[in-house]
Amino acid sequence: MHKAALSDNIAQMIEAGRRLWQRGLVAANDGNLSCRRDTGFLITRSGVSKGFLLPEDILELDAEWQKVAGEGLISSEYRLHQALYAADPQIRAIVHAHPPYATAYALSEADLNDCPLEEIRIQLGRIARLPFAPAGSREVAELAAAGMAGARAGLMLRHGTLTVGEDMEQAYFRMEALEQAAQIAWLAHGLR
Ligand SMILES: [Zn+2]
Repeated sequence: MHKAALSDNIAQMIEAGRRLWQRGLVAANDGNLSCRRDTGFLITRSGVSKGFLLPEDILELDAEWQKVAGEGLISSEYRLHQALYAADPQIRAIVHAHPPYATAYALSEADLNDCPLEEIRIQLGRIARLPFAPAGSREVAELAAAGMAGARAGLMLRHGTLTVGEDMEQAYFRMEALEQAAQIAWLAHGLR
């Protein structure tokens, strides 16, 4: 398919996926991306590298999360996306990834909010810490939706990270900023 023929949402998801993989914010088939549209949702299908998404790797869902177009299985973590969109109508795009430094904070007791870096507060606000539940479960979705409650970024304990935005580019940039902040906080901690 020619790029000009793609909807803006699909083109933005392909681009965000490429950057996520290129910057090492996801490995192998990790992570998932979704967008809200007027008629429903778009989400990456299961089992594909986000670095090389093709238009057919992005499934179209109706407002009830039933697949209306595309081949393959919907992302195993779709409930997480579904619950976040249901909880906050302002959210129009979601990125879930496993970036190494931010995920290290998600694995530890250290709170990234303790980092005095001004940029974190300006770009991300307060970073939510979302309680652990098994990946893909209904429980993880409910805990994430309740825990985000207006936050732009969250650390899913013992799992990975989550960012939301008004569009895919904003959600992606927040993921990039979250990982950058975690990396700087980590390096600064080593100098103490
Ligand atoms: Zn995950």
